Amino acid sequence: MEVKRVHLKDFTTLGVGGPAELWLVENLDDLARATEAPYRILGNGSNLLVADEGVPERVIKLGGEFAAWDLDGWIGAGALLPQIVQEAAKRGRSGLEGLLGIPASVGGAVRMNAGTRFGTIAEALAEIEYFHEGRLIRVGPEALDFGYRKSGLPEGSVVTRVRLDLKNRPSAEILARMRRVDQARKGQPKRKSAGCAFKNPPGDAAGRLIDLAGFKGMRRGGAMVSTEHGNFIVNLGGASAKEVWALIEEIRKTLPLELEWEVWGRFP
Ligand SMILES: Cc1cc2nc3c(=O)[nH]c(=O)nc-3n(C[C@H](O)[C@H](O)[C@H](O)COP(=O)(O)OP(=O)(O)OC[C@H]3O[C@@H](n4cnc5c(N)ncnc54)[C@H](O)[C@@H]3O)c2cc1C
Repeated sequence: MEVKRVHLKDFTTLGVGGPAELWLVENLDDLARATEAPYRILGNGSNLLVADEGVPERVIKLGGEFAAWDLDGWIGAGALLPQIVQEAAKRGRSGLEGLLGIPASVGGAVRMNAGTRFGTIAEALAEIEYFHEGRLIRVGPEALDFGYRKSGLPEGSVVTRVRLDLKNRPSAEILARMRRVDQARKGQPKRKSAGCAFKNPPGDAAGRLIDLAGFKGMRRGGAMVSTEHGNFIVNLGGASAKEVWALIEEIRKTLPLELEWEVWGRFP
């Protein structure tokens, strides 16, 4: 196990976030030790806004055994979802097509129930193993309370690995579905972001509301409401968490939207 001081901006897709102690755990013994003091779990950092001051808790990242995977067996929570999606397509295994383009770790995807209108990860799970209060627990997806961007996992639990429930289908059919998903994502900005900032309110799209309210293109320092997609806040280069937060506050003065991002550290 390696423990080092890092800047979390180097571990988040938005590219903001201050200092923390990073615990790179490789096996269950490491995980048990790392969780003896207050901690947070870092996946691929693609749904996180981390304060410029960083966080005082240990930040645990899953590697080693937890990043190993076998498509037809156990898949470590530290593995990267895009690799699994591609491998499944290549092997004619269907169920993950709707997750194309989501830059998550498997554990982060389960915790957030990542997905699109083409499908969510919860629909493709056969079994989930998680570490909670010193022990490993295995459950089927029906035992958790999966919903829109939520998993119902107990507070503080760490997803360690999952098994998938994939169906055999001709690769051509899977690839055709993936092309449709890819097409639907075309409007997403390529700049640094953490995906959609706000949850969609029932029956509407947060991006549409932000666009209508005229926020597209609004800037605070290096942070900007994307001109391509109103629900993306992008880092134009060197943005601080404070600048990103200022945009969130500006939007929420007008629109009662709930954040989809997980927020780490202190904000006003
Ligand atoms: C360009 C872009 C496009 C995106 N598109 C989509 C999309 O279409 N649909 C969608 O749903 N999301 C999308 N996202 C958001 C993001 O990819 C998802 O929310 C993803 O599930 C986050 O996974 P992560 O591994 O990066 O988690 P992180 O951002 O690192 O963490 C998110 C949360 O999960 C927790 N967590 C991470 N790993 C574990 C674990 N092993 N056990 C327990 N908790 C854990 C963290 O503590 C944190 O609370 C997008 C993001 C980007 C940057």
